[in-house]
Amino acid sequence: MDALELTICPSCGSTEIKKVRRDWSGRFQDQSYTVPSLEFYECPVCGERVYDREAMRKIQEHSPAFARVHTHS
Ligand SMILES: [Zn+2]
Repeated sequence: MDALELTICPSCGSTEIKKVRRDWSGRFQDQSYTVPSLEFYECPVCGERVYDREAMRKIQEHSPAFARVHTHS
């Protein structure tokens, strides 16, 4: 069971928002990075993106912003 089921866009209220899975590109300072096959919600109306806990974790794993805090084993 998914932790988050989103049916209404929190930004514009559209019900068109849906879960997608695709390579996701982010940017941190001057570095861009990619998270392959990331699942997140995207609203086709306003472009809002919503990430659940799992998606956030994957983004953080790939982000250069968090690369240095992975000191635990
Ligand atoms: Zn929206």
